[in-house]
Amino acid sequence: MSRARSIVTIVSMLSWAAAPTCNIAAPQRPSMGSSTASGSRSLAPTDLIDSDEFFKKAIASRPRSQDYSHRINSLLKQMTVEEKVGQMTQLTLEMIVSGHDQSVQIDPAKLQKAIGKYGVGSILNCYNQALTPGKWQDIITQIQTAAKKTRLGIPVIYGIDSIHGANYVQGATLFPQEIGMAATWNPELMKRGSEISARETRAVGIPWSFSPVLDIGRQPLWSRFWETFGEDPYLAKVMGAAFVRGMEGPDVSSKDHVAVSLKHYVGYSLPLNGRDRTSAWIPENYLREYFLPTFDAAIQAGAHTVMVNSGDINGVPAHANHYILTGVLRDELGFKGFVVSDWADIKRLVRDWRIAADEKEATRMAVMAGVDMSMVPNDYSFPDLLVSLVKEGKLPQSRIDEAVRRILRVKFELSLFDDPMPDPALKSRVGLSESRQDALQAAQESMTLLKNSNGLLPLSKNLRVLVTGPTADSLISLNNAWTYVWQGSEPSLYPKDRPTIRRAIETKIGASNVTYLSGTRITRRPGSPSNSTPTNMEEEVDMAAAVEAARNVDVVVLCLGEGSYCETPGSITDLTLGEPQLKLAEAIEATGKPVVIVLVEGRPRIINRIVDKAGAILMAYNPSNEGGHAIADVLFGDINPSGKLPFTYPRAVNGLITYDHRAFETEGEHSAIRPQFEFGHGLSYTTFGYSDLRLSKKTIASSDELLVSVTVRNTGRRAGQEVAQLYVADLVASIAPPGKRLKRFAKINLEPGQSRILSFKLRQDDLSFIGSNNKPVTEPGDFEVMIGGLKGRFTLK
Ligand code: BGC
Repeated sequence: MSRARSIVTIVSMLSWAAAPTCNIAAPQRPSMGSSTASGSRSLAPTDLIDSDEFFKKAIASRPRSQDYSHRINSLLKQMTVEEKVGQMTQLTLEMIVSGHDQSVQIDPAKLQKAIGKYGVGSILNCYNQALTPGKWQDIITQIQTAAKKTRLGIPVIYGIDSIHGANYVQGATLFPQEIGMAATWNPELMKRGSEISARETRAVGIPWSFSPVLDIGRQPLWSRFWETFGEDPYLAKVMGAAFVRGMEGPDVSSKDHVAVSLKHYVGYSLPLNGRDRTSAWIPENYLREYFLPTFDAAIQAGAHTVMVNSGDINGVPAHANHYILTGVLRDELGFKGFVVSDWADIKRLVRDWRIAADEKEATRMAVMAGVDMSMVPNDYSFPDLLVSLVKEGKLPQSRIDEAVRRILRVKFELSLFDDPMPDPALKSRVGLSESRQDALQAAQESMTLLKNSNGLLPLSKNLRVLVTGPTADSLISLNNAWTYVWQGSEPSLYPKDRPTIRRAIETKIGASNVTYLSGTRITRRPGSPSNSTPTNMEEEVDMAAAVEAARNVDVVVLCLGEGSYCETPGSITDLTLGEPQLKLAEAIEATGKPVVIVLVEGRPRIINRIVDKAGAILMAYNPSNEGGHAIADVLFGDINPSGKLPFTYPRAVNGLITYDHRAFETEGEHSAIRPQFEFGHGLSYTTFGYSDLRLSKKTIASSDELLVSVTVRNTGRRAGQEVAQLYVADLVASIAPPGKRLKRFAKINLEPGQSRILSFKLRQDDLSFIGSNNKPVTEPGDFEVMIGGLKGRFTLK
């Protein structure tokens, strides 16, 4: 089955001058004196970040790959079946080390078995906690030295989850988690962030990152919701392409860049019951409409590897799905790199999915479906079984050669054959202060002001403030998982010089103006993290004292949300915010003091009981180590917030809906499901007005471009950033059309009184959808364009 690739070539532009192709009045210069939005920002404020321009450039800047076929063929000719299968094997670091924590060391006997005897091609992960750059370099050097000594000297490709920075390297620069990066609506910032993550990962000798997460967050219960760019495929596709280009750069072989792994291909993020690694039911047209575009775009952006979805779609586990892994990924999307399984997922075809009677059969199924490398990760079953399958003639040698060819090509492209060793001089590149400034800017731009009654925010700096709530004094909550350890749960590993929200507020307004009481606490349940109950427990601490303290201050900053979690240990059965926190919030609100709620959470926990009485609500997501500063900057007005929700914030636990629902689904008799906060929502300390929506034509042919322009004006009194969002609605279609779909966005900086004309070009691709035959279709008829509350109509002939 073939699917036309949706190469997006629609141009949109933004300028001081009128758009040349459209007759638009000249923009007005600021009419008032300008004040800066950004306080002490070290970087130029965001400007002219137009989604389509950015995306086109990202795709176009993908470097050409060199031809290594001669060297690969010559190696393949020399390799035994065992050596080939070794290349397809990935083990966890635990398999070659001994010792614990920082005293972890390569165990020579284990290393000899893995690399010397089995010729294992890849090692992954951090053993049990983040290591210093020096320790990493030492480990990688020993691994590559062992690889050099093997018969053919093929280097090992080490892979790690650098999902929000080099988060397993001590001292690394950590960025907001992907959900927060999406809230910036600033792909340029995403690209810069992933450049830094790549540089700091490669600096320690690791050339491969298991990121970005390109799953679409349309199931808010899911424990990995915050690892996504949110619910919309267009926003996620632009941010994902930015991530890939930043990490892989103009030359992936350089010491500044790493290969990415797009994960988790495909459809992982929609478990019906919300629990990680359980069943998803996704019709193919829906899979192609919502879940495939991010992967398609990232492959166009040059991604070198793909990691497979640990779940199933419609009863077929992705690891055994030939159609998905070969038919779609290779034949349609043209992916040339290699596919790695996720953690122990071949074994799970037997143990959990029960589509294979034993591991040997599961191994055959997965490799034949298209898995090139198995993240085994804790034993040698995969190479042993695969060698027997080949020798018994149950799996063709040609399939092994194909997988090894792909793996070797990536190793060549990373320059591992010529230069596999870490460079000691690069250790100092980790955690540079200018990188930290970029992380701070990202955290600041992610801050999303959901509510601000009567201009409660920004707060003045001479107020007496009670800071309370379980996330107020927690770097763990600010970061979430994949931080120093898998679950992000080890307090001793967090840097001492990064302030929590409480400490940042104390610094901002003076400790003597701040009272702190936690009110409630989030702790971790002891024992195995993969037990069936949620990992985080909540309890009241000094709630009565906190409520009493509220009476004696001018304003309360109430920091709510979640602890850290991911994957199975993060599965929950109730999206409602923990009862102790709701109780605390209600008691504090009952005092009548102004309350600012700060949400530090990776998924939208239901808060409807406490929204109405809150004066202001700031969504902080998981902004990471600079998050304390960023939150304080916004609360006290040193930064004007510009984040916009990348998902729909539900009002009720069973009221889950995405913004691109059918229009009637939140109207009339269905109005009870209306969201707490809409996708794309986010307030500013200034106001923006939209006017003069113009469409270049009333009727277009399918080959025409439609130019849509609008004037955006800063109608308030301080400078600010606005994200203009352009939505299109197909008014009548053969598959019940969504009420609107995001098609373009542009983030702009406007001084008070300043206005700008934005001009976007739409083309046929923007008007198409995946039809019931699973192919893109564009149907003639009427369409609506929406931007900033304005609407225009046109007809497609
Ligand atoms: C996760 C992946 C991750 C891998 C290696 C798996 O459990 O699902 O996202 O890349 O572990 O850490």
